[in-house]
Parts: sequence; C-alpha cells; structure tokens
Amino acid sequence: MIDATQPHAPGDCRAMFRQLSEYLDNELDDVTCEHIRRHADACIPCKACMETLRRTVDFCKNSVSRPVPEGFSERLKTVVQQLVESG
Ligand SMILES: [Zn+2]
Repeated sequence: MIDATQPHAPGDCRAMFRQLSEYLDNELDDVTCEHIRRHADACIPCKACMETLRRTVDFCKNSVSRPVPEGFSERLKTVVQQLVESG
C-alpha cells in the first residue's frame, strides 16, 4: 500500500538501510522505527529486503526481541552495506 504522505526517492532507501545498520549497534528509537515501517509499506524493494532481514533479526521495538548471536551484527552490516551500494 502506498502512503502518499511519505514520498521517497532512491536516496531515501539508502538512508533507511543506513538506519538499519545503525540499529544493529544501538536499538532504534520509536520514531525511526515507525519511519522505516512506513517507508517499507510504500517501497516494494525495501519491503522485500526488510522481510529478508526480519527472518534473521527483529529490528523494531514492537517485535519480539531476541539476542543477536556473536558476530552476527558484523555479517548483517556487510549485507546492508551491499544493499546500500547496489541501490
Ligand atoms: Zn525504499
């Protein structure tokens, strides 16, 4: 579903993935979390990427939190970086 109040350009996708990367180091605040969810609702490529990430790590406060395995954060950050660079 498209949220016309949240228009975004490809650059926004990159910014969002950077936020995802930041999340891996520190938990996102509610506002950032909501921004990411809204973006994904309107952006099919981002939604697909996020669904992939979500299978491995829950990245929003209202998701069930679980511990991240040792070393996992670094690996996922690499994946996110590749998404940013390819986007
Ligand atoms: Zn996007």
